[in-house]
Amino acid sequence: MFYDTHAHLNADQFKNQVTEIIEEARENQVNVINVVGFNRKTNALANQIALKYENVYASAGFHPADISQFDESDFETLESYLKQNITVAVGECGLDYYWHKETKNKQIEYFKRQIELSKQYKKPLIIHVRDAIADSYEVLKEASRHGHLKGVMHCFSGTPEMAKRFLDLGLYISLGGPVTFKNAKIPKEVAKVIPLDRLLVETDCPFLAPHPYRGKLNKPAYVPIIAREIANLKKVSLEEIAYYTTDNGKKLFLTNYKD
Ligand SMILES: [Zn+2]
Repeated sequence: MFYDTHAHLNADQFKNQVTEIIEEARENQVNVINVVGFNRKTNALANQIALKYENVYASAGFHPADISQFDESDFETLESYLKQNITVAVGECGLDYYWHKETKNKQIEYFKRQIELSKQYKKPLIIHVRDAIADSYEVLKEASRHGHLKGVMHCFSGTPEMAKRFLDLGLYISLGGPVTFKNAKIPKEVAKVIPLDRLLVETDCPFLAPHPYRGKLNKPAYVPIIAREIANLKKVSLEEIAYYTTDNGKKLFLTNYKD
């Protein structure tokens, strides 16, 4: 069994085909899926999709690349999601200076507030970082001084050294399609150093389809392709990767889940 810990079945690309996509995932032993929200519309859709399908869960948060669209009133809506059992995580949240350096201050403020909500509601963070790894580490390190951090560095693209620093903060590391790309030296090195009990897998679909589907529509059914590459790199069996990543995902996201 596999757990796709980061899928955007709430994206426009999957409109009117969510049922088929989930069925295809199950045929490929991908039985548990987190549908990750990133803005107003997709937070609402993640909630709807997760309520409709078995073993499908939602997250809700403010993505740093969309930060300009949010204001105070969105925190109320966010909390209304976090009060629901079906919402198992806060995010995606984090920092993204690749798309929007000009909103840096607001990104940092909203990231910190989402970290506080994660602690308050005891729901882990799904953390997105792009071209902002040093600032993200500083914010998380500071937050870890005032209470236990729970969360995952999603689709981690930093170096093995940085991965270790985030692991030291108690966070999980999740890998996706890029680990299968032929020229992706760094993600492959990262895969080798993450301990099995701190590793998660994800697709981040509809983006970042693994090789040989690179550039095409990504979907949860491709998780085993990513897991197989990680198994080869770590020189362990595919079954071990399936077992550990599913178990880790359940521990992180579903420990407090009640039907
Ligand atoms: Zn995502």
